Amino acid sequence: MRRVLVIGGGLAGLTAAIEAREAGAEVALLQAGQGVHHLFSGCIDLLAYPQPDGPAVENPLEAIARLAPEHPYAKIGGDAVVRAMVGFQRRVTEHGLTYLGDGRHQYRVLTAMGTLRLTGLTPLTMAVDPAQIDVVCSIGPYRNFSAGLVADGLSRLTKKNVRTLAFEVAQGELDAMGLAAKLAEPAESARFGDFLAREARGLTVAIPALLGLENAEEQKRSIESRFGGVLVEVPGLPPSIPGLRLMHALRRIALDRGVRIAQNVRAVGALDGGGVLRGVKVRVADLEREETADAVVLATGHLVTGGVVSTRGALREPVFDLPLSFPAGESFFRSRFLDRAGHPALSCGVIVDSSLRPLRDQSPVYENLFACGDILGGFDPYRERSGGGVALSTATVAGRLAAGVAR
Ligand SMILES: Cc1cc2nc3c(=O)[nH]c(=O)nc-3n(C[C@H](O)[C@H](O)[C@H](O)COP(=O)(O)OP(=O)(O)OC[C@H]3O[C@@H](n4cnc5c(N)ncnc54)[C@H](O)[C@@H]3O)c2cc1C
Repeated sequence: MRRVLVIGGGLAGLTAAIEAREAGAEVALLQAGQGVHHLFSGCIDLLAYPQPDGPAVENPLEAIARLAPEHPYAKIGGDAVVRAMVGFQRRVTEHGLTYLGDGRHQYRVLTAMGTLRLTGLTPLTMAVDPAQIDVVCSIGPYRNFSAGLVADGLSRLTKKNVRTLAFEVAQGELDAMGLAAKLAEPAESARFGDFLAREARGLTVAIPALLGLENAEEQKRSIESRFGGVLVEVPGLPPSIPGLRLMHALRRIALDRGVRIAQNVRAVGALDGGGVLRGVKVRVADLEREETADAVVLATGHLVTGGVVSTRGALREPVFDLPLSFPAGESFFRSRFLDRAGHPALSCGVIVDSSLRPLRDQSPVYENLFACGDILGGFDPYRERSGGGVALSTATVAGRLAAGVAR
């Protein structure tokens, strides 16, 4: 059986590991720390703003077909994006998470700032037309959500009078995780449903994204049945319960399929077999050892998670020292934080061929090394709003190719 080693346990790494396993490989995944999912809204952005000064796109798949050749989506093609989306939706549904979207239109999701964000795939718990929302309800004592701020923004956007409500779950300094766990208790869920039945019967009610880590959809249905209305989650500040919910599901899927996950293990260098990788050197605490494999998938993320590091004024890929696409003479960041053109450092990453193999001087560095997710160059996940979609779809291709099957 072909042995695949995946480096990184974020959205891309877990997806690549599951794909490789489903394609028949023996798979091990190394994870040095957290991915960015505790910061992540839970929505999978496909592509919203391909041009810095252009309008938002309403049909992501149509826009993906027009991207420049260096963009990761252009390297793998639109069909691969559709296959990745469908595979993702099928798997997470098995684990009680429904993601809606077909890539041909955008969802509008309400934010904790009272604005709307565009996204390609949305969790069922957020999939409500914001114009339908009648009430915004805070869940006390959660401090990272102001029902007033959200209702004001929504009233301005929808020209309707959106009311606020406040529900107290528990006393004390419970954080998002603690509150979600408390609200997931059947008695507390029922008390909340009865509160809404008194205060907002039959209405559409937005709450901070604090439904439970497990069974959020069941909890939503059970609360809705008590007040006869619709409950919608609003993603907000970290730690993000919907982001963690998604990653818990993917992790469970990977483990159920037989992926071996090794935590707190950092890949630190190549086992170079002359044009092919024999595996990687890894560090666990102070010990160094070797992990051998027939193919390796690099899914180490970007600056936030150490996939790209900045040393002595230069950006580097630290595991294989792969060349990065970085415009000569550019500074890393523009002076304005929210510059519409994005920041050069965030669109720099490894340069790959159409099989997602990192290149040096236009040739694959190793025949059996594949890269996916935020580590890739040629796109800016933040400015474009494409991070989740690129992670899912490039990981699907990388996982399959690493397992030795057609993309
Ligand atoms: C604040 C924030 C909010 C975002 N919100 C959204 C959103 O709402 N929707 C959306 O679609 N996208 C969003 N994105 C973008 C999206 O999260 C990323 O594009 C996507 O999750 C990248 O996944 P990844 O697996 O490539 O990287 P990551 O999630 O960064 O995972 C990288 C993994 O590699 C591990 N790692 C790194 N180096 C090593 C090593 N040497 N050895 C072993 N392991 C290693 C890390 O510990 C981590 O587990 C957001 C990003 C940020 C920063």
